[in-house]
Amino acid sequence: MTLPPPHPAFPGGAWPAVPQQAAAALLAVLGQLEQTQSMSPTALAKARQPQLELLIDHAFDHVVFWRERLEHAGLSPARRPKTGLDPAEWDRRWANLPILARQEVQEHEVSLRSSRLPPGHGDFVDSMSSGSSGRPVRITRSTLDYLYWQAFQLREHVWRERDLAGKFLSIFRNEQRTDNTENVHLVENQDWGPPTSTVWPTGPSFLLDYRAPIASLVQSISEVEPDYLCTFPSLLLEILRHVREHGLKLPPLREAIAIGEACPPELESLCREVWQAPLSSTYTAAETGPLAFRCREEERWHIQSEKSLVEILDTEGRPCLPGNTGRVIVTPLHNFATPLFRYEIGDLATVGTGPCSCGRTLPILESIAGRARDLLVLPSGELRPPYYGHGAVMEVRSIRQHRVVQTQIDRVTIQLVVSRALKPQEENHIIQSAEQALGGVFTVSLEYVEGIERGPNGKFAEFERQIPLP
Ligand SMILES: [Zn+2]
Repeated sequence: MTLPPPHPAFPGGAWPAVPQQAAAALLAVLGQLEQTQSMSPTALAKARQPQLELLIDHAFDHVVFWRERLEHAGLSPARRPKTGLDPAEWDRRWANLPILARQEVQEHEVSLRSSRLPPGHGDFVDSMSSGSSGRPVRITRSTLDYLYWQAFQLREHVWRERDLAGKFLSIFRNEQRTDNTENVHLVENQDWGPPTSTVWPTGPSFLLDYRAPIASLVQSISEVEPDYLCTFPSLLLEILRHVREHGLKLPPLREAIAIGEACPPELESLCREVWQAPLSSTYTAAETGPLAFRCREEERWHIQSEKSLVEILDTEGRPCLPGNTGRVIVTPLHNFATPLFRYEIGDLATVGTGPCSCGRTLPILESIAGRARDLLVLPSGELRPPYYGHGAVMEVRSIRQHRVVQTQIDRVTIQLVVSRALKPQEENHIIQSAEQALGGVFTVSLEYVEGIERGPNGKFAEFERQIPLP
């Protein structure tokens, strides 16, 4: 693909452009990623090793939580020979490092935080939280880690060959919205925002607040005529179903981008059927940054091995063979503010087989089952994302907040915060729509509550499962 020249730092340096400092740093990292993505796995692991060892040494010196664990595993600076360990011995010691559970990260928030940052890593950046339900995980990051994260965001645009001059529409919660009586809340910005507009000139972007009836959201999409649309998979699914059900025609779209939740299996084909548009998604977690992107050529998931060391382990803790499914274990390489080693993120993924025709040699995941904690357990024991018919709920304007709770293997409760009592036909409409959206295998009931504490990420579907996984 041909990218436009970056913004010039001064007049008269427009082509080839001399970029300003922040853009230059991002482009320098991006340029290296263009090289590393086609390195052999062995060469990449070798190139990555010094970065991993720097992180280990820093964690040993400055993070209370890790000192003993690294020492015990034989990975502390004193226990590693100056000439380095041979790869087999490294792997043996690495496997001694216990898997870090999500609960441990929650319980040891303070002792996991670094007492200081090395020069050049910038400042501690406010805690990030993740998880739309339950207790969030708080991770402090550094300015430098944020820069790396941005460089990978740019890489994703490059991989997907996006036309940066296009219109980019996001449908998420807009925290700046104050007037909740208007039907839709749409804000236009002159560019795509950082990091993309830090580097390149771009077309305009739009933020549409999702708190509106589906029909109004669809109307806004038709008016904006976006080239790219980015939202939660659950909302995209409802938009597409609405369009199909009412026989509407949407303006042409180059790509739909679904982020923040696991994608339901039917979403990709529905997107092609209704909108003739490809669907892309990224595998990203707030605690770790980007984990896998899909290439445009074969739509396969490539692990972002330069950002994190990703292991897929079986129940015995051994690396999974191609074709097998295991737990995703992540070691982010650049966050020296809260170093995490072998963090179990809570997802299951299947290891891919064979090379990809895109030419990138970064390891492949065949599929990502998503976060088990965010999934509904069907009476059959299967797991699936909790799509419950957001549109039906949003049609009732007096509903201020809602949350979906699985209380039993065949029962789901929708909690509602309302400004006035619902009419019986409104209640029936929500219940019937939800039962249908949930596949007809759950009994749905409504519960009125005083308030619902929202996740700080403003995620679309608030979901809580009160029964254990099978
Ligand atoms: Zn590929």
